[in-house]
Amino acid sequence: MRRSLDRSNKQFRKAIQRLPLGVSSNFRYWGEDKTIYVDHGKGGRITDIDGNEYVDYRMGYGPGILGYADPRVDEAAREGMQVGGVFALSTEMEYEVAKRISQMVPAAELVRFSNSGTEAVMAALRIARAYTGKDSHIIVEGGYHGLFDSVLWYADIENWTPGSGDPPIEAESEGVPQVLKKLTHFTPLNDANYLEDLLKRNHQSIGAFLIEPMMGNCCSITADVAYVQAATELCEKYNVIMIVDEVKTGFRVARGGVQELMGFKADICTFAKAMANGYPISVVAGREDIMRKVGDGVAHGGTYTCHSVSLAAAQKTLEILDETDALETIEGYGRNLQAGMSEVLSARGIAHSFVGHPAMGGLFFNNTAPRNYRDWLDSDYTFYDAMAPELHDLGVLCEPDSREPWFVCEAHAKDDNLAKTLLAFEKAVDITLHKLKHDKLKHNQQHQSVPRMESKL
Ligand code: PMP
Repeated sequence: MRRSLDRSNKQFRKAIQRLPLGVSSNFRYWGEDKTIYVDHGKGGRITDIDGNEYVDYRMGYGPGILGYADPRVDEAAREGMQVGGVFALSTEMEYEVAKRISQMVPAAELVRFSNSGTEAVMAALRIARAYTGKDSHIIVEGGYHGLFDSVLWYADIENWTPGSGDPPIEAESEGVPQVLKKLTHFTPLNDANYLEDLLKRNHQSIGAFLIEPMMGNCCSITADVAYVQAATELCEKYNVIMIVDEVKTGFRVARGGVQELMGFKADICTFAKAMANGYPISVVAGREDIMRKVGDGVAHGGTYTCHSVSLAAAQKTLEILDETDALETIEGYGRNLQAGMSEVLSARGIAHSFVGHPAMGGLFFNNTAPRNYRDWLDSDYTFYDAMAPELHDLGVLCEPDSREPWFVCEAHAKDDNLAKTLLAFEKAVDITLHKLKHDKLKHNQQHQSVPRMESKL
């Protein structure tokens, strides 16, 4: 039986009168009859306003690292509230949190705080331009780095014929100034030759290489260590700042983020989501000589930077992540989750692999994990797309788009979240198989042609 979304649907019709799409971030709009309004979240679960409860693997796109309404962090945030908010002056705690970050992430020699991932990456690019004196940058195909004009571009691989020059570059949004296109280049992940060629041709104008080595917005597709090393060397050779965007991976895949996992140091790195368990705060950090440009020519700051509530939440969250076994618990749960899902899929002969890290694993319907966005585009995500809504109906919330990994929080490991998820997963897979077979039958009767997905069913 389908869950009821009556109240959410009613809320949507009300909200759309005052809020474009009825929401406050475009990604939260899932269609007129599918947009969910939340009543509350606790631990690893969300309850919507219809009373449907979900084990949540979106975790707000990553901020939920410990779980919703974590009492340890919320208690610290309440103490932060007593401090008074924002003063257009600094507090002692900023140094304490910056010190903790530098200890956890060796590349973060100097730290500046912002409020969101977007702001942090925006600052990183500005610092890189100032340091190198070069205005252009490279983005990895399929990457997402926030909602500001310089990064709201994509390489349109789908409408490109290999061999016909570089893929066309398109804006992700109307309103992004077209003049910025000439400052933006793209490169596929894990292809150092491509990067080298791009740099050889354009290094006079390229000041930054923006990379998320585990692509938290692209199925967690992961860079090889050798690729990251080659990229680091190329950046050094051509005087390009390597900006490692750890907005999703930071303080999640390891205490020192993806840089710890892969054993390298960024020139500049950015952090946000997991650092305060959902309170709005972010970081741009990096090598001392580069970061000293801030205040020495480079503008950075903002009215709300280091709000006392967010800062106190960050201090507590980082302390927990650094000093307890929370990340080990998260990784362990992620592994068990993937093992359980794998068992279900293998028993039905469905080819699959998990991508990235168990704390934010991508589910890919092919035996070999994708190496870059082009591989993901070439894959068949029909099964995932059909399965996600079934999971929602069965009380498991994953992103409808398979490019978003499954985010695990510490609280998932409590209660019966794993058993509940795997039971729902098994059911959802069976329903999806049944539906797709049925659709295929109908399709074949109508067209006598073979849909792409059928080889896997
Ligand atoms: N960089 C990455 C890698 C992200 O995943 C995101 C958000 N999903 C951002 C930047 C932007 O962060 P925010 O939404 O906090 O502005």
